[in-house]
Amino acid sequence: MNARSLHVRLAAWHAVWLAAVVAVAGVLVYFGLRQYLEERAAILQRQRAERAGAVVAQVGTFDRQRLADELTTRFAPEASGRFLRVSGADGAVVYQSGPPHDQSFDPAEFPPSSRRTGTRRIWFAAGIEFVVATVPSGPGNPPAYWVETGESMAPAFVELHRLLVSLAIAFGVVAVVAVVGGILLVRRALAPVEAITVSAERITSRNLSERLPVPPTGDEFEHLSRTLNRMIERLDEAFLNNRRFVADASHELRTPLTVLRGELENLVQETRIDPEFRERLGSTLEEVERLAGIVQGLFDIARLDAGEARAQRSEVNLARLVGSTAEQMLLLAEDKGVRVQCQASKDAWVEGDRSRLKQVVVNLLDNAIKYTPRGGAVLLRVGTAAGRVFFEVADDGIGIPAAALPRVFDRFYRVDKARSRDQGGAGLGLSIVKSICTAHAGTVEARSDGRVGSCFRVELPSCPAPETDPSIPAHRPRKE
Ligand code: ADP
Repeated sequence: MNARSLHVRLAAWHAVWLAAVVAVAGVLVYFGLRQYLEERAAILQRQRAERAGAVVAQVGTFDRQRLADELTTRFAPEASGRFLRVSGADGAVVYQSGPPHDQSFDPAEFPPSSRRTGTRRIWFAAGIEFVVATVPSGPGNPPAYWVETGESMAPAFVELHRLLVSLAIAFGVVAVVAVVGGILLVRRALAPVEAITVSAERITSRNLSERLPVPPTGDEFEHLSRTLNRMIERLDEAFLNNRRFVADASHELRTPLTVLRGELENLVQETRIDPEFRERLGSTLEEVERLAGIVQGLFDIARLDAGEARAQRSEVNLARLVGSTAEQMLLLAEDKGVRVQCQASKDAWVEGDRSRLKQVVVNLLDNAIKYTPRGGAVLLRVGTAAGRVFFEVADDGIGIPAAALPRVFDRFYRVDKARSRDQGGAGLGLSIVKSICTAHAGTVEARSDGRVGSCFRVELPSCPAPETDPSIPAHRPRKE
């Protein structure tokens, strides 16, 4: 999973915020409840102390045993785990409750009376917190007695602790739900982006007529898709105009170039002109032929880009096509002193435009012969692998430098401009090969170690062999 993707970032933010909100709410609830419990305990203790004060005022302190009995009967401090103390104005203890039944604290450890109205908190070593209320009893100022009642906060804190545990569990659950829910939510919300990305990935200059999916969500994604589609439409129009211009220009140039070539050919054959002039005419004719080749190449690319190869389809046995084309080009190879060997499986059927596929073989083989020095060898291989037909042209010629490999299929690209030009190349041959392969839903790639030899591999989708071989006339026996 990409940690920087919008999915992960949004889900993480969602989880962090939700967890933070729950944590803050938990802390507020915990401390708010704790304060409420302490305040409530203080009020209760004060009320209890006032009631005990009334008993002291009523019974008096003359008979201390009676006072103790009365207070024990009414308030049962030991049984209820509370603290009760009556002190005189001088601080002397008149009555003090005994240790509680559960022995959770020792009343003797309580500090002397503050002899001031109010509540205070007292902490014991064991961590037990007591809320103690002190109220005056009896007339006079200062009053004759001070009554103190106290109660441990431990039971309340046990409840608080339980709440804390529940809050921690809730926090964990919320965190998990936030992460999982966040991922699902964000994935759902960003699904249109995935769809748009996948489609955009598919669109190249060759299929600009395709459009991105428009999610009918009425939100920013719908708006984005529509905007991008309008942009692709404009690009499509620009590309189309460009292609049309190249096609029209090359088409218009072909006729005058043919006329020019014809005229020059006639002139070169003219016996009345002097030899030096004929030689100059000859080199002009060569340039015109080169120009005608470039124009023809541009015209071919424009027609291929316009989908011409898609229109004229038939089953073609590439193995046989490669074999026969190699045979036709053997003379050229012999002239150059290059050996050509062909290893073709019996059948390698593809569906496509026969003449265009032949052009692929011619261009690749022509290059291999052209860029292989005398005495070298070219190996042609045709076969099928994994439902695809492959065709390889490997030579042990001059090779292609690594930096040039990715560019050899670009239009007008030549590795060594001067040398390529000498050999009549304009850098369009491989572009045409690539356009033809793409038009046939195939691929072409070049490999070379940069020093000796290169290998061009074409892969095309295979198709089943036809019932009758279309390249063999019906009256002749089928022969491979
Ligand atoms: P060109 O008409 O110049 O040969 P291509 O498009 O056919 O144009 O090839 C582009 C460039 O790729 C060539 O100029 C050449 O430098 C290089 N190239 C093509 N095929 C080979 C090969 N078999 N061996 C070495 N270089 C090659």
